[in-house]
Amino acid sequence: MSDTNTGKQTALVYAECAEGSLRRVALEALGAARLLVGDGGSVHAVVVGGGASAAAALQTAAAELAARGAEVVHVVDDPALAGFAPEAYAAAIGAAVAAVQPSIIVLGHTAAGRELAPRVAAAVSGGHIADVTAVDVAAGGGAAAIFTRPLYAGKAFEQRRFLPGAPQVITVRPNNLPVAEPVAPGSEGTVAALAYSAPPLWTIVRDVVRKASGRIDLAEADIIVSGGRGVRSADGFAPLEELAAVVGGAVGASRGACDAGYCDYSLQIGQTGKTVTPKLYIACGISGAIQHLAGMSQSRVIVAINKDPEAPIFGVADYGIVGDLFEVVPLLTEQFRALLG
Ligand code: FAD
Repeated sequence: MSDTNTGKQTALVYAECAEGSLRRVALEALGAARLLVGDGGSVHAVVVGGGASAAAALQTAAAELAARGAEVVHVVDDPALAGFAPEAYAAAIGAAVAAVQPSIIVLGHTAAGRELAPRVAAAVSGGHIADVTAVDVAAGGGAAAIFTRPLYAGKAFEQRRFLPGAPQVITVRPNNLPVAEPVAPGSEGTVAALAYSAPPLWTIVRDVVRKASGRIDLAEADIIVSGGRGVRSADGFAPLEELAAVVGGAVGASRGACDAGYCDYSLQIGQTGKTVTPKLYIACGISGAIQHLAGMSQSRVIVAINKDPEAPIFGVADYGIVGDLFEVVPLLTEQFRALLG
């Protein structure tokens, strides 16, 4: 909690790992926590996992967090945490909360973060602000900070602050806040093992089926090349895959393309799909229905390729190319390949 004499804040970051590596949103959450506690405040982090191959990965993740401003990184390594089970992970975070007594708890607004944050907030009788895209500490950190979050699928934004007194739990949307920068050599934090006892579980995760393994996570991708019904077939995604590979991006899709069976629903972006905020979004053969815009209109730069000059997607695009995607996309790929070597 905040020290009542000094007003210094203590934050705890749940640093999410995926397939053995720290997710970038974990470093963004750490950056937000450092901003919120300000100079003189203290930031702890917790990494959670288990199973034969987890120990080394957890230590690597912990070292990176310690090098980027986490004063103490608590490592909860237990076989019961080998796979993501919400109750077990919430209990592991609870162990860190008990040890640290934070006034602020920050998680990534990921599938796992969305499961965990309300449980954590309920456990600490705290407030919860989800899907934060900006943090303003100009009026003061901690309870005085103002959090911006989108509403109505990105059509409006609201600003919220917590009432003072109760612990604050926030989730930060991936790709919106700066990652925590490394601290000066010699000021790195420490890493400590944290004891954990598994709670009785009401739900058991038997298996996790990864539909998009090996691909860049859409939520964290800097560049997304997205295809709509205009790609005309599953094979029509090939030029988009090639462009994405050259620029180091991920492939996404409209629901039109998913419904037509051209790609898996795990790629769907929009109101009933994923919400993404990459630095560059290239929409190929996507008309720009309001439900699609709901998931991508906050992208920093939007390029639209469509053969219909009246397509609504051009209304949100920073750059529009009126043309056949099967001619334009290979040309772009060629140019990027030449530029990026
Ligand atoms: P279309 O609207 O058919 O557009 C295809 C575009 O490709 C056209 O503009 C055409 O000019 C262009 N084109 C065709 N050939 C070429 C070519 N060779 N080169 C260049 N351009 C070409 N949609 C989503 O995307 N995400 C959602 O999450 C989502 N949720 C929904 C939720 C609800 C409740 C509802 C009712 C709908 C939802 N939809 C969603 C569907 C949405 O309304 C649209 O139907 C869908 O986005 C259309 O997909 P599209 O743009 O690929 O297809």
